[in-house]
Amino acid sequence: MSTFSAPKGTYDLLPPDSADYLAVREAFSAPLRRSGYGYVETPGFEHTELFSRGVGESTDIVTKEMYTLTTKGGDELALRPEGTASVLRAALQANLHRGALPVKLWYSGSYYRYERPQAGRYRHFSQVGAEALGAEDPALDAELIVLAADAYRSLGLRHVRLLLNSLGDRECRPVYRAALQDFLRGLDLDEDTRRRIELNPLRVLDDKRESVQRQLSGAPMMRDHLCEGCKSYHEQVRELLTAQGVAFEDDPRLVRGLDYYTRTTFEFVHDGLGSQSAVGGGGRYDGLSEMIGGPELPSVGWALGVDRTVLALRAEGVSLELPPATEVFAVPVGEEARRELFTAVTELRRQGVAADFAYGGKGMKNAMKSANRSGARYALVLGDRDLTEGVAQLKNLESGEQRPVPLDRVVTEVCAKLGRT
Ligand code: ATP
Ligand code: MG
Repeated sequence: MSTFSAPKGTYDLLPPDSADYLAVREAFSAPLRRSGYGYVETPGFEHTELFSRGVGESTDIVTKEMYTLTTKGGDELALRPEGTASVLRAALQANLHRGALPVKLWYSGSYYRYERPQAGRYRHFSQVGAEALGAEDPALDAELIVLAADAYRSLGLRHVRLLLNSLGDRECRPVYRAALQDFLRGLDLDEDTRRRIELNPLRVLDDKRESVQRQLSGAPMMRDHLCEGCKSYHEQVRELLTAQGVAFEDDPRLVRGLDYYTRTTFEFVHDGLGSQSAVGGGGRYDGLSEMIGGPELPSVGWALGVDRTVLALRAEGVSLELPPATEVFAVPVGEEARRELFTAVTELRRQGVAADFAYGGKGMKNAMKSANRSGARYALVLGDRDLTEGVAQLKNLESGEQRPVPLDRVVTEVCAKLGRT
C-alpha cells in the first residue's frame, strides 16, 4: 500500500467494476446521440459567480457545497458542482443560441460537491447530462424524460420511479411563493429554516425532517396556483408521457435544489438506495439564461447520476451483459513463439478482435492461469513442437477442447470462430 489514499468522499474506479460505470454512461448517452443531441465539454472549473448566480445564492450547492479557490492571479474559481450553468454559459459564449433552436447538447463528466460523504453521496461524482436550449415545447420536456426513462430501462433497472411536478412560471410562481411564505411564517421552525422561508421558501417543502414535514400538511401547493398557461403546458407533458408508455407519479412536493427551475420538474428515484434515492433529475429552467446575463432562452434539461445508478444496479442484482474484455489470449512458449504470437495478436487486434498476450516470460502454467482469468474464450498456444510443425494450438477455454491451426491461418480461423469476417 502507498502512503496515500483517495481523499475523503472520493473513490477510485478500477477493473472489473469500472466496466459497469462505462456501460452506464453509454446507456445514458446513446439515446441522446440518436436524438439530435451533440456532445459538449466544458472546463472542470468556472468563475465562482457563474454558479452563485446560475445555481442560486440560496441553494445548498452554493452556500455549503462548492469547492472554491483563489488562483495565484486572483481569479475566484469553483470546481463545477453541476453541469447546466456551464453548458449554458458555453452555448451563449459561442452564440449557439443565434442559430437554429433548440440547441440540443449532452455531456458526461466529474462534478464536485463538499458534502457529508455517505453511501451514494460523494464529493466527486459522475453525471451524464442533457440540455435543450431555446425552445418552449411540452414535447421537448417529454422527449428528455422519455430518453432518461428508456435509458434506465435499457440497463435492466425495474424499480426506478419517475416523480413529476410543475413549479409554475414568472406569472404564477411569485403569487404562490408569497402564499407559501405566509403559511410557513406561522410554523414552529428553527432559525435556519426561518431564513430559508425568506430566501427560498419552496425548498422548505423539501425538508426531510419529520418534525418539519408534520407541520407542512396544510401548506399551499403550487399545483393549486398554476396559471392557465402552466396548467395546460403541464397537462400536455403528462399526456405525451402517457402516450409513450412512461409511467410517472405526480408529486406536488417535488421542488428540487436549484433556484432556476420553472414549470416541468422531475426526479428519478430508486427505492433500493436508502436516503440517497435520487438517481437523476431535471426540469425546465426558463429564467437561467437571463440570470447569467444572457437573453431570454427557455430551456429544459436533466442530469443523471452515474454512481447512484451503478448502486441501483447492484441493489437490484442486475449484472450487465458486457462484451468480454478479452476474447483471445496468446500463450507463447519460447522466444521464437513469442515473436510469432505477438504478430498474430497485433493482427487480431487490427481485425477488431480483443486479444491479449502472456507478458513477462511466465511459465506455461502461469500463462494459462492468466488466460483463464482474462475471461477469453480462446487461448492460442504456441510451443516448440508446434513451431516445427507450423501450427498453433487453438484451445476453447470453456470446453477445454483444443486443435491445431496452421500458423498462417491463425488470424482467419480465430476471426471465423468469433463470427468476425
Ligand atoms: P440530492 O437531493 O440527493 O442531494 P441533488 O438534487 O443535489 O441530489 P442534482 O443536483 O439534481 O442532485 O444532480 C443530479 C443527480 O446527480 C442526482 O440525482 C444524483 O444521482 C447525482 N448526485 C448529486 N449529488 C451527488 C453526490 N454528492 N454523490 C453522488 N451522486 C450525486
Ligand atoms: Mg444535493
